[in-house]
Amino acid sequence: MNCTPRLEIDLDKIYHNAYTLVQRLNRRGISVTGVTKATLGSPDFANALLRAGVSSLGDSRIENIESMLHANVTSEMTLIRSPMITHAARVVKFADVSFNTEIEVIRQLSVEAQKADCIHRVLLMVELGDLREGIMPDDLIDIVSETCCLPNIVLEGIGTNLACRSGVSPDVSNMATLTELVNFIETTTSESINVVSGGNSANLTWALSGADTGRINNLRLGEAILLGRETLYRKPIANLHTDAITLIAEVIESKSKPSKPSGEIAQTAFGAKGATTDRGRVLQTILAIGIQDIDPEGLQGDKGIKICGASSDHLIIESTGRKLPIGAEVAFQLNYSALLRAMTSPFVGNMYKY
Ligand SMILES: *Cc1c(COP(=O)(O)O)cnc(C)c1O
Repeated sequence: MNCTPRLEIDLDKIYHNAYTLVQRLNRRGISVTGVTKATLGSPDFANALLRAGVSSLGDSRIENIESMLHANVTSEMTLIRSPMITHAARVVKFADVSFNTEIEVIRQLSVEAQKADCIHRVLLMVELGDLREGIMPDDLIDIVSETCCLPNIVLEGIGTNLACRSGVSPDVSNMATLTELVNFIETTTSESINVVSGGNSANLTWALSGADTGRINNLRLGEAILLGRETLYRKPIANLHTDAITLIAEVIESKSKPSKPSGEIAQTAFGAKGATTDRGRVLQTILAIGIQDIDPEGLQGDKGIKICGASSDHLIIESTGRKLPIGAEVAFQLNYSALLRAMTSPFVGNMYKY
């Protein structure tokens, strides 16, 4: 018996998405770092990406990198969030490369790398307008110069991250700025910059547009592989699967009920206002999953299934035409927000299948 609720992850479709993107980007001179964080570093997912030809794996959590290594995933590992300074020893032990923006942290990585007698590679992230992580361009030369001098530290390259916090779109202009910064570093410091990591799934429209890619030779992709969509407008990417992942939840109540609540209406469990319109009686179904496990806004049911509300442990749907039987399984597609929450809920199982 399969457990419910669960995520079903079709690894053939994941492989196809990753392989297709790797091929298209390689033709543009861009390698792909496969980002595993949304799956909490699942070894099945990671191995599918490696078979598809990603050049390395990236994760924002050192714990996920450790669990992939523990499961014998063989790959270069990149920590794509700035390390906590208190994690420096773990970072040099388990990650080959880390993304950094604070010289204090890089100094500590150097201390720990000396203790561990290993080389740790550092990629410096630059702020280009989205106002999440990144060194201000004016401060870059100083940080590059110090980084290159630190014992047991090698400068891997530079990168940027757009779209995630403010929705700033990667485009010809900010990507050209990144290339100019690379050239500027090389002429000012005589260091050579090998890896230029231009961004995430939000960069695909730019990267595949035919525009000059300049010095950018790497992207870090998670969501586009998982969900088959670009992330600026969430449009499907040509020839990718948008249904590689399905959420399955189970019916625990199924009744014909009024559509309009009765009584004085105040706040709901999550502060929203309850329904006020009367649509007569409806076929109302409760599924055993809730806001603790998913983002109800990010679920898409099959035709005839409408999501009407949710509380911590209940998802309320309406079905047209048919009453859903108790114990029945109902399937949904998920957006990134719903997927993240489902992956991190201990109440939702994972089923990786071929
Ligand atoms: C999560 C993350 C990515 C991957 O983003 P997707 O939108 O899932 O492709 C890339 N880079 C950094 C720094 C990230 O944190």
